[in-house]
Amino acid sequence: MSWTDELAREVSGRVLTDEATREAVATDFGRIVVRRPQAVVCPASAEDVARVLKFAARHSLSVATRGGGHSQTGQSLSEHLVLDMASLCQLVRVEDGTVTVQAGIKWRTLVEHLAARRVSPPVLTNNLDVTVGGTLSMGGLGVASWRHGMQADTCLELEVVTGAGEIVRCSSGHNRDLFDAVRAGVGQFAVITEAVLKVRDHQPHFRSFYLLYDDLAALLADLKTLMTEGRFDALEAWCAPCPQGFKKLGGQRQAFAQWFYPLHATIETDAGPAPAAAEKLHGLQYYKHVHTEDGELPEFFTRLDPLFALWKRGGSWDYAHPWMECVLPWQTTALYVSQVLANLPPQALAGGHILLWPARGMAASAPLFMRPTGDFLMGFGILPAVPKPFLDEVLPRLHMASQAAILMGGKRYLSGWVDFDHAAWKAHYGERWADVVAAKNKFDPQGILNPGFVKYE
Ligand SMILES: Cc1cc2nc3c(=O)[nH]c(=O)nc-3n(C[C@H](O)[C@H](O)[C@H](O)COP(=O)(O)OP(=O)(O)OC[C@H]3O[C@@H](n4cnc5c(N)ncnc54)[C@H](O)[C@@H]3O)c2cc1C
Repeated sequence: MSWTDELAREVSGRVLTDEATREAVATDFGRIVVRRPQAVVCPASAEDVARVLKFAARHSLSVATRGGGHSQTGQSLSEHLVLDMASLCQLVRVEDGTVTVQAGIKWRTLVEHLAARRVSPPVLTNNLDVTVGGTLSMGGLGVASWRHGMQADTCLELEVVTGAGEIVRCSSGHNRDLFDAVRAGVGQFAVITEAVLKVRDHQPHFRSFYLLYDDLAALLADLKTLMTEGRFDALEAWCAPCPQGFKKLGGQRQAFAQWFYPLHATIETDAGPAPAAAEKLHGLQYYKHVHTEDGELPEFFTRLDPLFALWKRGGSWDYAHPWMECVLPWQTTALYVSQVLANLPPQALAGGHILLWPARGMAASAPLFMRPTGDFLMGFGILPAVPKPFLDEVLPRLHMASQAAILMGGKRYLSGWVDFDHAAWKAHYGERWADVVAAKNKFDPQGILNPGFVKYE
């Protein structure tokens, strides 16, 4: 009997070995790393997950926990076993100020369930089709993170199955070391099976002011003011190129752009009249107030859906996505961003974008989410869609942008294209490296969970 048959007899969920199922989880949104598993398990319960992990440890098999597979360096891929968490996707209960969910639920499903009660999670990612387990494992950043921190910071309690196959509940008051390892822990220590999350009452409507800046320094100054005053609920900015043709650079002609910076500043509103521009925008140094958008709050949560639909229709969703996101110290943001943009050919962004998300360090608390010191921080992401023939050209450039961010005191967000060697991983975790190694030895002693991504030696 093969080991996959043996496993199928031990678990009550489905164990799938057919070609189509294995192929469907052989790569991720990055489309760079390919690992075809020998079996895909759709667990029926936390007990099932425990059985799978004990089985894997006994047979020295690697296990990748997969949410929606939106990460980009093979974080959710395995040559042996993939745990497809989509089978654990129930909303368990809603109580005053909290919701309990299974980890494979998508944030979209959760938001839709909660809409009628007019409550929502404090922080939502741009893409709502990612899973609760997937973003709690990375951090989960959104346009309200400057105020509420990451999704991992809004998590109150978890049920997890450690790499050793033990089912454990943990929180800040109970099994804290496990709770602190698993949140933003990149799936290295345990499989999250259930999460208790904060939810909050929200207003029914929103108003977004679409502002355009032609000066990065002015944008940064205004973002600091807006965060300090708390004038808006959500803040999101981009770097948008206006191509200027080609210029000579190092003996070659290279495309270049004049960069502009759209800022969307959003406030939730009640049934009364929405606040006027004169009131909300006074003193800001934008170049143009382009548009004011009003709507029901759930429309704001799904505002990026039309963009992702365009990426899918146009085919760029299926390109490679070596996304390079980082969190920068405020002091080095202007220099770093302007230098990166000066060297970025604008056509490299077709089917992608460059994000600038202001943040506050004091809003975040999950210890393994590495960020620069200081209160004012900037999230920056180069998010291209790259046709395969261009990949060899693009990866070294993104590697340089990543190195430069780190040299300037930044920390990488770990769901994207991360090609760290052992030394870079140690440097990423800095003084927490010893805690990371200790947690790995304690909770996943045989190193079966997502091996190869974090390089321990
Ligand atoms: C179009 C798009 C937009 C995005 N926008 C944002 C954004 O606004 N903010 C943001 O923060 N991120 C964003 N991301 C990144 C995305 O949120 C992360 O890649 C996230 O990890 C994906 O969740 P997933 O369910 O697809 O997880 P996967 O990619 O399947 O897994 C991610 C990691 O989590 C682990 N994991 C998954 N489930 C579990 C579990 N139950 N227990 C333990 N470990 C688990 C996996 O092993 C892997 O290491 C975006 C991605 C895309 C493609």
